[in-house]
Amino acid sequence: TLTNKAASFNDIQTKDIKHHFSPFSNNKELAEHGSRVINKAHGVYIYDDNGNKLLDAMAGLWCVNIGYGRQELVDVATKQMKELPYYNLFFKTTHAPAAKLAEKIASLAPTHMNKVFFTGSGSEANDTIFRMVRRFWDLKGQPTKKQFISRKNAYHGSTVVGASLGGMGYMHEQGDLPIEGISHIDQPYYFKEGGDDTQEAFGIKAAQSLETKILEIGENNIAAFIAEPFQGAGGVIVPPASYWPEIKRILAKYDILLVVDEVISGFGRTGEWFASQYYDLKPDLMPIAKGLSSGYLPIGGVIVGDRVAHTLIEKGGDFNHGFTYSGHPVAAAVALKNIELLESEGVIERVKNDTSPYLQKRWQELAAHPIVGETRGLGMVAGLELVKNKDTKERIAPDAKAGGICRDFSMANGLIMRPCGDTMIISPPLVITKAEIDELVEKAVKTLDETA
Ligand code: PLP
Repeated sequence: TLTNKAASFNDIQTKDIKHHFSPFSNNKELAEHGSRVINKAHGVYIYDDNGNKLLDAMAGLWCVNIGYGRQELVDVATKQMKELPYYNLFFKTTHAPAAKLAEKIASLAPTHMNKVFFTGSGSEANDTIFRMVRRFWDLKGQPTKKQFISRKNAYHGSTVVGASLGGMGYMHEQGDLPIEGISHIDQPYYFKEGGDDTQEAFGIKAAQSLETKILEIGENNIAAFIAEPFQGAGGVIVPPASYWPEIKRILAKYDILLVVDEVISGFGRTGEWFASQYYDLKPDLMPIAKGLSSGYLPIGGVIVGDRVAHTLIEKGGDFNHGFTYSGHPVAAAVALKNIELLESEGVIERVKNDTSPYLQKRWQELAAHPIVGETRGLGMVAGLELVKNKDTKERIAPDAKAGGICRDFSMANGLIMRPCGDTMIISPPLVITKAEIDELVEKAVKTLDETA
């Protein structure tokens, strides 16, 4: 649907080219091609201004868990806008939407996590965690414990701390990142790095690279390990079953905090409220965003485990950190309603027991396609590796950087998927039906046929 004829740019594209600086886009190329203009959405579908209907198998940016067009969220936002459109949470102040949302999140989180700090986004949540963790160890009298260990190809946001915690080389290249005190270990990427190992042996080996790094830096210098439960933007990298138990063992041995980044995985994507429950993890801190409000309004937060919360609160005095939009009342009211809808409509149980097993079964069928080297996934998230040759795993896009560089959406055949290097990924709204999953798979097959 795109055209490179400047004469055919519509009014919105023209304004956009002249005055909008686009995120994660080549702004020079945009001036030639124009951006695609999306102007409405309903259910699992979005519509562009050429009248094309697209099945949004990415739920926007992994966030529209409840699906598009929910009137209940519009109504609650309108009501809250009228009552209290804004007030801050600084300097010993609160309001009902923030307090009620914090209570609701705590009730769904793992039982040892009972406090929520609100932010405007996932990136701000990870920036907050960076400061909370360092403050925690200072207050514990172990101020040398400052360094963070993360993983290659991780995505933890786009702020200076977020992009530094992230392991995307193409982001580090811009702005001299990572900042000091952050290092990256290998990711458990079996398809690319498993070699002759079994999944189980590879999972343990990948986890043990954490121990190697700890011994290299010194356990007294390490504050926390941060990881997505499965890597999202890195290409839906699902760790072997042996990975997380071994990571847990290592972290306990050296008393290092665990930060599980639930920005994508939280609020139902795995069929549990949080992937920490799916993988039986006991995080000290969890950043959240995206599915918290299903993307209807920007809101994020940090769920803080009792150990960290107790020290920060009992010994910490003032916590000198916060955002103008921390717990914004309209965003918080919408987030609470979004969670209530997910609960009252049984969306997450349906994902767990019905729609995600179906999606995974149908997605696996794509493994037979001549250009698919592997399919993988869990819950409502999946990926497939494109190859030129199934036996040698020769890459189909040798120019693309391995893992993670996402320059575009694939919109072929009315289906939005996201290519990351050689991986095609999907993360559809949690409300997707089985009939819509059939449509998704059919369209994906067509796109693969055309790519082959
Ligand atoms: N963490 C993860 C795992 C993410 O996938 C993202 C965004 O994609 C973020 C953090 C950053 O969130 P935001 O874009 O809201 O700042």
